[in-house]
Amino acid sequence: MRAKTVHNPKKGKSVIYWMRMADLRIHDNRALSRASVLAQEDSIPLIILFIICPQDYLAHGVGARRIDFMLRNLRSLKESFFSLNIPFLATTQAKMRGIPSFVLSFCEQYGANTLFANIEYEVDELRRDIKVCESAFPKGIQVIFEHDKCIIEPGILLTKQGKPYTVYSPYQRSWLSVLNNNVAHHLEECSSPKANDESIKSSELLVPIFDSTVPFAVEGFELADWDQIRMRESWPEGEVTATQILERFLTTKKRSSQLGAVDPLSHGSENCPKFSRIAKYASDRDQIGSDTTSRLSPYLASGVISVRECARATMQLSETCMDTDKSSGIKRWMQEIAWRDFYINILASFPRVCMGCPYLEKFSDVVWENSRSYDNVEVEAENVQKWKTGMTGVPIVDAAMRCIKTMGWVHNRARMIAAMYLSKDLMIDWRVGEKYFMEVLVDGDFASNNGGWQWCASTGTDPCPYFRIFNPHTQSLKADPSGNFIHHWVPELRKVRGPDLHDPSSALADKLGYPRPIILHSEARERALRRYKNPGNM
Ligand code: FAD
Repeated sequence: MRAKTVHNPKKGKSVIYWMRMADLRIHDNRALSRASVLAQEDSIPLIILFIICPQDYLAHGVGARRIDFMLRNLRSLKESFFSLNIPFLATTQAKMRGIPSFVLSFCEQYGANTLFANIEYEVDELRRDIKVCESAFPKGIQVIFEHDKCIIEPGILLTKQGKPYTVYSPYQRSWLSVLNNNVAHHLEECSSPKANDESIKSSELLVPIFDSTVPFAVEGFELADWDQIRMRESWPEGEVTATQILERFLTTKKRSSQLGAVDPLSHGSENCPKFSRIAKYASDRDQIGSDTTSRLSPYLASGVISVRECARATMQLSETCMDTDKSSGIKRWMQEIAWRDFYINILASFPRVCMGCPYLEKFSDVVWENSRSYDNVEVEAENVQKWKTGMTGVPIVDAAMRCIKTMGWVHNRARMIAAMYLSKDLMIDWRVGEKYFMEVLVDGDFASNNGGWQWCASTGTDPCPYFRIFNPHTQSLKADPSGNFIHHWVPELRKVRGPDLHDPSSALADKLGYPRPIILHSEARERALRRYKNPGNM
């Protein structure tokens, strides 16, 4: 149990845990756990504060679907905290700038001498938290930050030269070895918070917090009704749901029917660890048209489930019923979790990636079609629109983009194909795509999204080399050999079978009312090679 005692020079009247956007859970939450331990030791109430800040969401391009998911989880948390007599306040602060002083006055109002929070690694958030610490110190308020988001926190793994890793493979090897050397420490489960004394529900000071509600929408981030319904069905909120999704991934077979869009809870009822989706993950994970991955990303991005819980359950499975073969699905899945840590580590080590800069500065001057100042601008805006709406004339790209637009999620391989198509075939600045993904994804996460985009555009750490340019048609044949994914999302092509489905001729496209491709891949490839080879030149 992670229950370090906090040196508490001056016992306060309460302890405050400041919950943030990416730690929306009660269980296995480091800052919350420590706050509760202190509250119990000092026999004082624990209070939870959550600050909704629209300006912050705007500044970071967070989309309405992620905000809706956050609010739904907050409402569910409020109920859980209520049953533990823990007051939970979700309050709105219009401006990010005002947050430090608000937090400090909240601590003073409730007589808290200790404030706990989990670290957010983005630059603006770190600056905000430094301000909180600076203002808290003279007031005698202790601020305690915990690393909670990663399995191995940023800054721990360094190369032989003492530098942060910028290449994934050696990072992943070091990650796995450090984890395996001390699994108990890295995956240690935190104690869950204990209930406050029953009497606090009638405390005059706290009644307003108990009575407060979590809003249903944040101004400027409202979802259309149809979207709200779809999101609620596809991505139900709550910790219990997240744990069930994990369980099903670890123990049940994939669905026999293979639609691209599925409710993560509505499939795979057969309990069969040996043939579970994780057991088949190494071989099947790149199959877009079938239900092969966990679909946990919205829950991990918002911290509705702890990444340690996912890793513990997975590693336990490997001890109990799976072989430990190197290529096993378990190992492969853990490597994906390592990708998540890797990109958070990059974000924390190289803050410039938070500021819209390519990690590889030599590619700052690549000429993008949408940054050229000549008469082509409108055509490029139209191409971006075609990409966003799934009307590029490349079936796999269109299926991916329609799936994202409808579901707020799509399979990793589909994200890669669509991202590489935008940045290398259409030569549109990858930041346009990065921003759009953040707007529409329910799992929008700055570190993974930025990392994914910079990998595809070959501008990031450990990028694919610039001359590796996916041919979307051959990618499509490999990732969706049955054509199920395209058939589902591109109904215009539902009757087309075989290779034509992946690369329809202009005559076939015209006949079926499907768009012709914006650009020929072979031509696009030559243009991309030219521009990347000599950044700054056409
Ligand atoms: P699984 O295959 O079951 O993997 C388990 C978990 O590992 C995921 O939930 C995720 O947390 C992590 N993971 C898997 N692959 C990656 C990866 N390549 N990079 C980082 N973490 C990974 N992921 C996000 O969570 N949010 C994003 O905003 C996001 N944007 C992306 C943008 C692009 C252009 C690309 C190429 C990838 C992006 N990813 C993002 C990574 C990845 O596509 C998703 O995490 C994955 O598709 C989620 O599905 P899953 O939960 O079924 O994954």
